[in-house]
Parts: sequence; C-alpha cells; structure tokens
Amino acid sequence: MIPITDPKRQFAALEADVLKKMKNVLEKGNFISGENVTELETVIADRLGVKEAIAVANGTDALVLTLHAYGIGPGDEVITTPFSFFATAEAISRVGATPVFADIDQITFTLDPIKVSERISKRTKAILPVHLFGQSADMQELNNLAKQHDLHVIEDACQAFGAFYQGREVGSLGDAACFSFFPTKNLSTIGDGGMVTTSDTAVAKRIRELKTHGSNRKYYHNEIGYNSRLDEIHAAILLCCLQHIDDWNEKRREWAVRYQQRLQTLTCIKLPITKADRQHVYHLYAIDTDKRDSLIEHLTSRKIQTGIYYPQCIHLQKAYEHLSYREGDFPKAEKLSRRLLALPLFPFMTETEQDNVIAALEEFQVMHSC
Ligand SMILES: *Cc1c(COP(=O)(O)O)cnc(C)c1O
Repeated sequence: MIPITDPKRQFAALEADVLKKMKNVLEKGNFISGENVTELETVIADRLGVKEAIAVANGTDALVLTLHAYGIGPGDEVITTPFSFFATAEAISRVGATPVFADIDQITFTLDPIKVSERISKRTKAILPVHLFGQSADMQELNNLAKQHDLHVIEDACQAFGAFYQGREVGSLGDAACFSFFPTKNLSTIGDGGMVTTSDTAVAKRIRELKTHGSNRKYYHNEIGYNSRLDEIHAAILLCCLQHIDDWNEKRREWAVRYQQRLQTLTCIKLPITKADRQHVYHLYAIDTDKRDSLIEHLTSRKIQTGIYYPQCIHLQKAYEHLSYREGDFPKAEKLSRRLLALPLFPFMTETEQDNVIAALEEFQVMHSC
C-alpha cells in the first residue's frame, strides 16, 4: 500500500541523530523542562522573529492556553472555520466561549474574510483562522478586520510549520499562533507536542504560568491552571527534525509540482491551488472531485491509500447540536467535505510511488470520461 504519509520513513532517515539525542536525555535524567525544551523554544522564536515560543503538550492545549491567556471565556465568541480538525473549535468551547463559524474560500479552503466580517458581534473577542493543509489563510484581510473591531487574531498553524504569506512565516502573522507536533504533521515528533508563538510578552508570561498549574514559583499558585508541558525527549527529537524541515517542505512542494505537471489535463479531478502571495507546505495534498467514492475504490484496488479531510464539517458535528446550525449554513465548506480527497504526498515518498499514483489517476480518467 502506498500511504498518504509515513512518519516511520522520516525517523528511519534520522535514526542515528535521534538515538544519540534520546540517549543524551536518558543520561541527563532531566525529563521535563530541560535544556532541549529551552533550546527548541529559542530556535523557533528566532526563526519566526517573535519574542516568545512556549512549548506545551500538544496543539489543542496550545489553542486552549492561548485563548485562556487572552481572557477569553464564557459569554465570548470566537470566529473560526467549520472546515478544520475538530480541535480548533473544541479549544474555544473548552475555555467556555462559543465558536461562531464563517464559511471558507473555495480556493485556499481557509476563512473567507468577508464571511468573517458578517459574523462579528459585540461579543466577538477573537478570530481563529486555520492555515488548512499547509496554506496560509488571508491574514492581511483578517488582521485588518481585527484591527477595526479590536479583536485578537490567533493562528491555528498546526498544519503549516514553515509556510509563508507575503514573505512572512506563519506563526508570526497574528497576535499569537499555535503549532502541533503530532506524528502526522509536517514538523513532528514520536508522540504529542505543541508550541505557542507570540510577541505579546504579557500573554506569553500567562501561558507559561497556566501550563504549570498557574504557578511561576514552585508550590505557589496564582491561578487555576493546567499541566501541559512538552517532554525533553520530544524537544530533542524536534530539534533534529528542525534541521531538515525546510528541505522536507521543499520536497513536498516538488512532489506537488510534479502532480500538477502530470495531472493537470485530467478532467475528473481539480488540483489544489496556491495563491501567488504564499508558499504552501502541503501537510495534505487534497484534490477536488465529484466522483470521490468511486475514486477511493479505484485507488484502493491499486494499493493506494487516500484520506478524507474532513468528512463532516464541525458545525454539523453531534457535539455542536446545541448551537443549532443546519446543513446549508456553510455551503462551500459542506461541498468540499463531500469532494476533497487527499493523495499520498510526503518528503520520503519515492518517484515510483508517485508515478503509480499518477498512473492510477490516468486510468480512472479513461474509465470514467468525466
Ligand atoms: C492537529 C491539529 C490540531 C490539534 O493538534 P494536537 O497536537 O493533535 O492536539 C488543531 N488544529 C488543527 C488544524 C490540527 O490539524
């Protein structure tokens, strides 16, 4: 089976380096909050040109802690996309606020600033755009809206480490940004991990306290917090991966260009588009087709894995029944949830594997004459 992604191959390529760093952590015996975590925070903050990077346990916690640190809670609204991984909205609900959804742009699959502007109310406190599949949202328009209405902008950059927008890297575009290092993300470890980046030093300080039980001095607690730390072992592994992330992202773009060159004449599928002012990192390479079921069946028969991201929009999830959204509320998001299909694309895939995927898609085109 050709997988859509394969973290095993990434770590096979880094084995010697990773094992050395892991051994070092074992020998030091400082498993939580040690030198690797501090170094990782420094390297990421420097890279993004932000004042602070705060390592946390996972991407969901990064979102929860950031929202909490901005004082967002019961009675507040946060505008976000219905077309993302569930955690984006879940984090808003977790702090007691209400997610307010706005439809997305058909090209980038990210928040449509015009739709966002229609959803702003007296209760709105923040906009939470997602750089979906590795392409930045329309940050300039969203930042302008936020400025006009005095809102925070919190980037969900969990799928987009290393992506660029108008020459600037995601994670440095809003008031704060959240990353995930879950094993399938483009920058990842062998377990859970996350990071908040921000130049707002007051918020950074509060996140540092919140993530350690609301404490900045051992056994003295300023507020009710969380336990959300990144382990040394994951920080060490992430430092290894960081040395390669730009090459890996470049490789992802090369595979995407190759798909584009070889598949552009097929009329059964529409290929993803990157807007001119941004650089994609292809966490996922999702094509658009109205023949999704038969295409999945065909590719599976050719031993090619595919993935549906996401089969159900967040506003239609059972967990959000109480918000009383209906089918038809966000037509673009809903349409894409029925049509998008992710194909294999990861830095360590081989040319033969990609050729097989391309051949199978060409074969499908002949069989179906769409
Ligand atoms: C993965 C992901 C998250 C959550 O990250 P975890 O590390 O799994 O908690 C949040 N938002 C988006 C868009 C994601 O892809």
